[in-house]
Amino acid sequence: MSAGAQAAPIYPRVALIGLGLIASSMARAMKAEGLAGHIAGHARTAATREAALEIGFCDSIHDTAADAVRDADLVVLAVPVGAMEAVAAEIAPCLKPGATLTDVGSVKQAVVDAVGPHVPQGVHFIPGHPIAGTEHSGPHSGFATLFENRWWLLTPLPGTPTEAVARLRSLCEAMGSNVDLMDPPHHDLVLAVTSHTPHLIAYTMVGVAEHLRRVSNSEIIKYSAGGFRDLTRIAASDPTMWRDVFLTNKEATLDILGRFTEELFALQRAIRIGDGQALFDYFTRTRAIRRGIIEAGQDTAAPDFGRSKGTAA
Ligand code: NAP
Repeated sequence: MSAGAQAAPIYPRVALIGLGLIASSMARAMKAEGLAGHIAGHARTAATREAALEIGFCDSIHDTAADAVRDADLVVLAVPVGAMEAVAAEIAPCLKPGATLTDVGSVKQAVVDAVGPHVPQGVHFIPGHPIAGTEHSGPHSGFATLFENRWWLLTPLPGTPTEAVARLRSLCEAMGSNVDLMDPPHHDLVLAVTSHTPHLIAYTMVGVAEHLRRVSNSEIIKYSAGGFRDLTRIAASDPTMWRDVFLTNKEATLDILGRFTEELFALQRAIRIGDGQALFDYFTRTRAIRRGIIEAGQDTAAPDFGRSKGTAA
């Protein structure tokens, strides 16, 4: 991001519905760069609305989502995927003609199906997903640099005006992201591989450790080596968000889990029959993937002793 604020905001008025990690990071990034003339916000509970008011990342806080979106040029749905439809139904009559409506949900086809039917004629619905996050949630967890050098995937529907997509793209880029366009089912398959199934595996492994009575809890904590410790961080992610991800990206996740199970059985067999060459070759191939991620600038080669702040989600 640049050092100073831009001359003119990209959107005169932005409304954020949901004021957790993603929305509060967007607000902070937009404020740092002067990307929005006015940021209106709404969250479900009074406690979150009060926290947002106190922190000050919004210019106005509203008791209802309908009030928050009035006259907004850009409306961002930043609630769990399972809550998108009810919010869309509530705000639809108040959306300004010509406004852009986007979301930041981790699954895209389900959001298109849930929100799309409520979008009035003349409002541009451009679903999106910033591939950036941490295991923390709520209005205090956000930070302005969350999106820097992270991908922001937009999944515009056929017929969406190119200017509306270009404008949203420029906002994401001004917050530090790289933007790619994709269709919703492809997004869901890619994310099932890169994010959703890995989270499920982390939840499972931490669950296994919890159930293993021969290893006490204090030993798990005391001797947690890199692998397990990293999994516990992922498995600490928000339960509501991740419940909704698996309920709404069911097909792709089950497809990838099926493939994962086959690979696991192959490795299990190699261990049982003592096929060291198969294990070595497998781990050599996976190591190359890690190198590719580092070369693509999505992580560093520095050893991580649990000090890094952001993770992809
Ligand atoms: P978060 O920190 O838990 O915040 C969620 C916000 O949504 C809160 O302000 C909450 O309000 C509000 N909310 C929850 N349930 C609601 C409902 N039924 N109706 C209205 N508002 C509701 O979540 P987040 O991490 O920012 O995630 C928001 C979205 O971004 C999700 O769709 C998630 O899939 C996506 N996403 C998350 C990550 C990540 O790593 N966290 C990364 C990329 C995309 P209260 O606080 O008042 O309950």
